[in-house]
Parts: sequence; structure tokens; C-alpha cells
Amino acid sequence: MATLSLTGVRKSFGATEVIHGVDIDVAEGEFIVIVGPSGCGKSTLLRMVAGLETVSSGEIAINGARVNEREPMDRNIAMVFQNYALYPHMSVFDNMAYGLKIARRPKAEIAERVTEAARLLQLEPFLKRKPRELSGGQRQRVAMGRAIVRQPDVFLFDEPLSNLDAKLRVQMRLEIKALQRKLGVTSLYVTHDQVEAMTLADRMIVMNEGHAEQIGAPLDVYERPATVFAAQFIGSPS
Ligand code: ADP
Ligand code: MG
Repeated sequence: MATLSLTGVRKSFGATEVIHGVDIDVAEGEFIVIVGPSGCGKSTLLRMVAGLETVSSGEIAINGARVNEREPMDRNIAMVFQNYALYPHMSVFDNMAYGLKIARRPKAEIAERVTEAARLLQLEPFLKRKPRELSGGQRQRVAMGRAIVRQPDVFLFDEPLSNLDAKLRVQMRLEIKALQRKLGVTSLYVTHDQVEAMTLADRMIVMNEGHAEQIGAPLDVYERPATVFAAQFIGSPS
């Protein structure tokens, strides 16, 4: 279990600042959803947390310890992307085991963790298959499994469902929610889909043009939007 905090986080690419000082505190086991339109800076924010992008100023801390200078591998964070590239030549088991093999975990432990994740994600019957022999939803579950087996302190999701068709998206949304209830991993989940945000979030953050415009429980944001943008984007009737 871990806390994640962003304090005054800014990001510039060249002379252009795209994240203008964001403060977020994610409690242990909390599932926070960042929702906002394309280009508002969601991915950049997540990539900074993951260590894939440097922070221009401000601080990112996990369990109270600054991680700005830590390599991605040393942050104990797992990230699930929209383009969850699985290794096509490897079985489902090997895809899920890959990160643990790199980390030189003992074989028995790898088998145990992969089996446990496969059970959670209902992937047990498919462990010997190759990714091309799976449906889109099953592949997305393998990508989640790959993240889960690493037993990360923090889970980051960047629009993980946006490549799936509408029906599958609804199903996977429910599965992610159920999984979160079981695992209770501190999570930051990014989407441009308001409904996804409303259903998944313990708290949601409405992001616009590099600012966090509002942070609150989904219903509070819906009923009491703090800005005109939040009202329009979340679609409050008022
Ligand atoms: P979102 O994920 O919300 O769609 P992004 O974080 O991808 O938004 O992008 C936020 C802004 O930062 C956009 O204006 C985008 O063009 C810019 N941006 C993102 N990555 C880079 C980069 N590597 N170099 C320059 N500009 C970038
Ligand atoms: Mg993005």
C-alpha cells in the first residue's frame, strides 16, 4: 500500500509550458480518475509519475519519498497503456512473466504470481496461447496481468479501454472496478470518457489545459461543478 503525491508539478516542452502546477494527493488504495479532453496534459502527467518524462518543477513523492530522480524501474509503479503491445511470439504466461524474469525473481515465485493474476483475470484457460489467439478484451486483461504480477505500489492507467469497442469497454470497466475492490492498489486512471470517470473513481479530477480544475467525489463534481468548463465537460444539467 502506498500514497502518491504531486506537488506544484509543472512541465514544459521547450518554451511551452503544458502542465501548469498540479497538486494531487492519492491516498492508500484510492482510485483517482483524471478526466479531460484530448491535449489537456493527462498523458504527460502520468508519464512524469512513471518516470518516462522529466519534471520541470515541483515534486512527485511515493510514500512521502521524492522520486523525481528515480529511474522508472525503481519507482515500483506499473502502467497500463491504450496500446498494450504484447510480445506476439510469447505465450500469455510468458508475456505476464516477462517483467519478473527481467527482475530475476525465482521461478517458483514467478509461476505463483502469474497463476494468481491469471485466476483474478480469468485468464487461466489461455496461459499457453499466443496473443493473436485472444480476443481484444482478453489481450487487455493480459496487459493488466503483466502489471499486476509486479505487485506495484502504484497503478497508472492511460486510457486503457479506448481501443476497445463500446460493449467491451463497459464490460472491462466493470472488471477493473471489481479488480480494484479486490486488490485496493493506489491508482491514477486517465480517460477522456466522462462515464468511465464517473463509474470508476473514488475521486475524480477534471483537467483542462494543464490545470486540475476540480478534485472531488464524482457526484459532487457532477452536482457542483467548480468551473464553467467542468460543468460543460461533465455534462451537469444545471
Ligand atoms: P492528453 O494525454 O491529455 O491528450 P498530452 O499529455 O498527450 O495530452 O499532451 C499535452 C500537451 O503537451 C499537448 O499540447 C501536446 O501537444 C504536448 N506534448 C506532449 N508530449 C510532447 C512532446 N514530447 N513534445 C512536445 N509537446 C508535447
Ligand atoms: Mg493522452
